[in-house]
Amino acid sequence: MRSDNVLIVGGGLSGLSTAYYLARYGIRSTIIEKAGRLGGLIKTDQIDGCSLEAGPDSYLATKTSVAELADELGGLPDKIISSNDAARRVFVVRGGKLVTMPRGMSMMVPGDLRAAFESPLLGAATKVRLLRETRMKPRTRTEDFSVGELVTDHFGPEMLEYVAEPLLCGVYGGDAEQLSANSVLPRFTAYEKRFGSLIKGVKHDQKKPAETTGSLFRSFEGGMQTLTDALLKATAKNVPVIYSEVTRVEKAEGGWRVLVGQESISCSRVVMACPAHVSAALLERSVPQMAIELSHIPYSSAILAMLVFDRATLGHSLDGFGFLIPRHERKTIAAATWVNTKFPSRIRTGLAALRGFIVGGKAEELMRTGADKDAVTELVLADFQQLMGFSAAPLFSTIYFWPKCMPQYVVGHSSRVQNLRRLEGESAGIHLTSNIMDGVGVPDTIRRAKDVAKQIAGDRV
Ligand SMILES: Cc1cc2nc3c(=O)[nH]c(=O)nc-3n(C[C@H](O)[C@H](O)[C@H](O)COP(=O)(O)OP(=O)(O)OC[C@H]3O[C@@H](n4cnc5c(N)ncnc54)[C@H](O)[C@@H]3O)c2cc1C
Repeated sequence: MRSDNVLIVGGGLSGLSTAYYLARYGIRSTIIEKAGRLGGLIKTDQIDGCSLEAGPDSYLATKTSVAELADELGGLPDKIISSNDAARRVFVVRGGKLVTMPRGMSMMVPGDLRAAFESPLLGAATKVRLLRETRMKPRTRTEDFSVGELVTDHFGPEMLEYVAEPLLCGVYGGDAEQLSANSVLPRFTAYEKRFGSLIKGVKHDQKKPAETTGSLFRSFEGGMQTLTDALLKATAKNVPVIYSEVTRVEKAEGGWRVLVGQESISCSRVVMACPAHVSAALLERSVPQMAIELSHIPYSSAILAMLVFDRATLGHSLDGFGFLIPRHERKTIAAATWVNTKFPSRIRTGLAALRGFIVGGKAEELMRTGADKDAVTELVLADFQQLMGFSAAPLFSTIYFWPKCMPQYVVGHSSRVQNLRRLEGESAGIHLTSNIMDGVGVPDTIRRAKDVAKQIAGDRV
């Protein structure tokens, strides 16, 4: 039996950043990670002069937690790179063709009405609705409702099908009819309350000084793994790592006991930095109420395919960041990134990298039926060839299967989060990090880790 102060279950970005922030408060922690490597979903392959992302490829510049952490880690701010926003253009597949998303969209809300009126992506009925939408009255809804409902109430079904659903699918891999408007699009539900019209809300905010200058997306030279590698380096001396699977978390006298293989380790606190469905199973007997809440957070799966070509054989200008595929136009991929254009420094001159994102039911079906990397490459290639109009074959590909990897903030999520916060407060030493409560992205994960570390440090004094 060993005794540690804080045990962290999971060594992804959440676990690593929690350990880092705890160490800053002088609190000793140990990470237990079931995979043979740290970083979780963040992984960058360096192949043939290219930095190829297996998971996240960037983060939103408007959220400051990544830049703050990079500052602290030293040396990293120099490695932050910006997306090539001069070429920022996204296409949407309509009738099998790539059609440009209207300029000035803020998610599914047109910030530039003229561009929306001129766009071939939207039909006449939607354009009439845009005009009517600007006259909508402020509205407060008493119950949570879906993103699908918010979008159709304001703009009708076409905006949902061709803009909102494909955009959200690219972030959540989920279903707009299930996702909670309050949890996923709080800015827009606030506009509805204050202005009635979402268009008016977007236009109002356009007049404010920008939250950040420069590009919308940021990343790191050498890929997102530069960040987790820096965290690893910063914690290497003080944070031991046990590479093993946690199988249970039990109550013990004066604290907790974590079962890892044949060993049991006692500690005063446990930070759950793993997906909610894993935490639910681990806490089932010791904190049953919390386990029930966690088990109700659904997860969606994803497959990320990166196909690398000889650029000369592609015969495509790659004049944008990529494209989105609405559900009923979809065969295999739901979204694609033209990596050369979004982050030119990632790809060696002479090569072109196309990243395909397979999500939800399709990803689950491919995993269930045991599709291997070659089979996935073939399916993704067929989509690229058909939609982009080329016949070249890739020089090589990397395929990553991520089962049950993206939490879905479904209708009712905010009250589930409230319950989880209460149960966390009552648990005397179980803490929840990861991306299940305060946002699904990389910056949200870091912010949550920082908050949890602060809370643990505060409890101690
Ligand atoms: C395909 C994909 C693309 C994404 N793209 C972006 C993007 O471009 N921008 C952005 O901001 N966000 C993106 N995200 C979200 C972002 O990746 C996550 O918010 C973040 O990486 C979550 O980190 P985490 O440490 O909480 O989880 P994870 O990275 O999942 O880490 C959890 C860790 O827990 C370990 N673990 C699980 N069970 C156990 C156990 N029983 N015992 C011990 N260890 C265990 C796992 O092995 C894993 O290492 C993306 C997510 C996905 C899935």
